[in-house]
Amino acid sequence: APAPPPARHLFSDPAEVEALRKNLLTWYDRCKRDLPWRALAATEPDADRRGYAVWVSEIMLQQTQVATVIDYYNRWMQKWPTLQALAQASLEEVNELWAGLGYYSRGKRLQEAARKVVSELAGRMPRTAEELQKLLPGVGRYTAGAIASISYGQATGVVDGNVIRVLCRLRCIGADSSSPAVIDRLWDMANVLVDRSRPGDFNQALMELGATVCVPKAPLCGECPVKQHCQAWRRKLFGNPPKVPDVEDCGAGDCPLCPPATEPWDSSLGVTNFPRKAAKKPPRAMRTATCVLERRGCHGAPEYLIVQRPSSGLLAGLWEFPSLPLAQDLKDKREREELADHLQAWMGRPVAARGLRFIGEVIHIFSHIHQTYAVYSLPLDGDVTLDPALSPSRWVTEDEFHASAVSTAMKKV
Ligand code: SF4
Repeated sequence: APAPPPARHLFSDPAEVEALRKNLLTWYDRCKRDLPWRALAATEPDADRRGYAVWVSEIMLQQTQVATVIDYYNRWMQKWPTLQALAQASLEEVNELWAGLGYYSRGKRLQEAARKVVSELAGRMPRTAEELQKLLPGVGRYTAGAIASISYGQATGVVDGNVIRVLCRLRCIGADSSSPAVIDRLWDMANVLVDRSRPGDFNQALMELGATVCVPKAPLCGECPVKQHCQAWRRKLFGNPPKVPDVEDCGAGDCPLCPPATEPWDSSLGVTNFPRKAAKKPPRAMRTATCVLERRGCHGAPEYLIVQRPSSGLLAGLWEFPSLPLAQDLKDKREREELADHLQAWMGRPVAARGLRFIGEVIHIFSHIHQTYAVYSLPLDGDVTLDPALSPSRWVTEDEFHASAVSTAMKKV
C-alpha cells in the first residue's frame, strides 16, 4: 500500500473538521444562491421526483454555467416534470429543448436512462451513489454522489472542478490535480469532510464556495468562511514554510501531493499557486464548408434546407445546413468545387461551383475542436429532389429553423 500522505495534506484533526463544517454551512445558509433545482430538492416530498429533479440539474450543469442552465432547466421540468414523462418523449423533442446547451449526448443519455428507470426499475430511482453509478447510463461518480447526498441524504462526498480547486488550496496540493493519484486523495478527503447530518447541503456549500468565493483567478479570501483552515491562505500571509521541516511538513521534496520541485511556490500568484494541472492539449483545428440553400416557399417567404446529422458522434441527431468537412490545407477554389460536388451528388443535378456565393467564416469552439465554417449560399429557382438515402432533410422558415434541434454553431452560421 502507498504510504499515507504527510499530515499537512490531510484533515486529520476531528475538531478542525467539525469547525470547518460548521463555518461552511453557516455561510451557505446565509449566502447561497436561489436556484430552481435547490428549491425543488428542498420542497419535493416524493423521493423519486426529488432525485429526478437533482439529476436533471446535475447533467445540465456539466461543463455549463449556472446562468445558462436556469432557463433550460425550468423549461425541461415544465415539459417533463417526472421520469415517466421524460421516458415517453421522443429524441427529437429532447434535442429541440436541448438546442444551444451544448454537449448534446447528455440530453440523449438522460432520456435513455429515464426509460431504463421506468421499464427496468419500476420507476424507482436508485437511492445510493453506488447504485446510481452502476445502474444509470451517463451517471458517473460525481453525479451519483450529488444525487445521493442532495436527494436522499447519503453521507457521501463529491469532487467536481470547484471542489478540486477548494481542496487543493485548503491543503496546499500542488501535484497535477488531474492525475488519478491526486483525484483519489481528493475523493478520500471529500468523504472525510462531508457533514453527516446535512451531506447534501455540505456538498453544495463546498461547490458554491468554489463557484462564488474561491474562484480560479481572483479568489475573495478576505470573505472566505473557511480561511482559518486554508493552508494556501496561511502560506500567502506568512510566506514560505521553514527550511527545516517540522512533523507537519512534507519530506525532502518527494511528497506526491506537493508541487514538483521544478515548479516551486510563486509568491506573485498567492493562493492561485493551487491547483496545478498538466498543460492541456490545444484543440484540434477543423474546417467545414457549409451551404445555405434558399428557395421561395409557397407564401413567398424564404425557406432554408436543413439535413439531419448521423445518430452518433459530434452533435448526433441535430439538424444543420448541408455541410462537408474539409482538409485543412485546401485552396479556396478547391473548397468551392468540393462543396459543389457534394451538393450535386446529393441533389442529383448539376451544381456549378461559381454559383456558390461565399458569405464569410464562422468560428465555433467545441470542447476539443476549433471549428471554422466556410459559409456559402445558393439561391434556387425551383424545387430540388433530395436523395433520402443520404440523410433526412426538410425545408424550414427562419422561425422554424430556430425552433428546430440545431446547434449554436449553426445558429451563428
Ligand atoms: Fe480559497 Fe482563499 Fe478561502 Fe483558501 S482562503 S479556501 S484560497 S477563498
